[in-house]
Amino acid sequence: TNQKSIGEFFSQHLSFPFLQYKEHLHVAHAEKQFIYDTAGKRYLDFFAGIVTVGVGHCHPKLIEAANKQMNKYWHLSTYYLQDTVKDYATKLLEHFKDDPQLSVCLFVNSGSEANDLALHLAREYTKQHEVISLRNSYHGVVQSTLGLTNITGFKRPYVPGSRVAMNPDPYRGIWGGRYCRDSPIQTNRSCNCSQDHCQASDRYVEQLEELLNYEVSKKKVAGMWIESIQGYGGTVQFPKGYVKRATELVQQNGGLYVADEVQSGFGRTGTHFWGYQAHGAKPDIVVMAKAIANGFPFAAIVTRPEIAKAVGTYFNTYGGNPIGCAVASAVLDVIREEKLQENTHQVGTHLLKRLAKLRDQLPDAVGDVRGKGFLIGMEMVMDKETRKPFPVEKMNAILDRCRHNGLLLGKGGNFGSVFRITPPMCITKEDADFAVDVLEDAIRKEL
Ligand code: PMP
Repeated sequence: TNQKSIGEFFSQHLSFPFLQYKEHLHVAHAEKQFIYDTAGKRYLDFFAGIVTVGVGHCHPKLIEAANKQMNKYWHLSTYYLQDTVKDYATKLLEHFKDDPQLSVCLFVNSGSEANDLALHLAREYTKQHEVISLRNSYHGVVQSTLGLTNITGFKRPYVPGSRVAMNPDPYRGIWGGRYCRDSPIQTNRSCNCSQDHCQASDRYVEQLEELLNYEVSKKKVAGMWIESIQGYGGTVQFPKGYVKRATELVQQNGGLYVADEVQSGFGRTGTHFWGYQAHGAKPDIVVMAKAIANGFPFAAIVTRPEIAKAVGTYFNTYGGNPIGCAVASAVLDVIREEKLQENTHQVGTHLLKRLAKLRDQLPDAVGDVRGKGFLIGMEMVMDKETRKPFPVEKMNAILDRCRHNGLLLGKGGNFGSVFRITPPMCITKEDADFAVDVLEDAIRKEL
């Protein structure tokens, strides 16, 4: 009854559109990779608070860091020197050694606010106005970033100065397969490879060039925003070469490349600390949030000094909050000390292999498995030929069954047909195996 009444309260007085389960999950507490409900049932959390809880729930080192800082001071403003802020900035910038020009941090409070500031900087610095982002992208939902977010449901039909480039999605994109010798030619669909021989990137880069030449009115582009792996859009991995070539093209036209690392940063892809590093691309602004402080409201951008200076005076009351800095600093320590990026690579590779096996066993349901590290997507289809997306009822039935058996997952993609598998980076191989077993059982019952 308590659960029922709190459910009613949420639907009447709070606007929480994403409450995910038919029977709401009422959380009591959380620890490491686990969430416990008010009845004491334990769930393995494979969504990590929407890709946010990187080092696990309630990590003791983070609690200690927050407590220590709370007892010193909570907030002073930007008028005073503070070691906590300086120490964190120093530590964060150590992760940009491959481009020492990325040497200025600006602290804000959320991913949307960070992208809003990046937009402000890009326009002021370039003195150009138009911005480009990819179809299905998600960069936040404050008014300004609605011009960058293109996924259905959030996208607004027309925001002045915003342009949408074709999404180089190897599974659902309009080009790809015909340009790759490994493509399933019979369906005339895209392949899903990142091989050198795959020329899918060429078509998308040509389309971007067309956009720059004929729509954006060349030399008017302030920047292009790209998630290094597209998160909410369905864990889309871009074909080899695209990000580097697309962003260089924008840079040649005087625009900036803004790497949105809100989901793909802080080691989550396993192979690199930042997702853009895998593309060999050179961002002008890097945007980060979510895992930066494991869920404590904190976000940042890192850029070059001349870009940071372009706005003149910038002020943000809560930006760089000392408790946020202390927690974010502990996050970096924990990732290093507990080798969480390495664990993400190892266990993530194992998890991907097991999911790929499931795709091979159930090709008419599991259409695609993709991603890296612990940023994994599993796209569900009615059959492998048409790739018709799984309907929402089937997706929800699987989510409910997983939840019943102690596993929490996410959902995304333009059709809501992609399971998003993004656990905290501390999970074990046994957790991964448990999750795949539960998911497989739930899918099989739905066939
Ligand atoms: N960029 C990306 C890639 C995101 O996934 C999100 C959040 N889902 C945002 C920006 C916006 O972050 P926030 O919700 O903290 O405003």
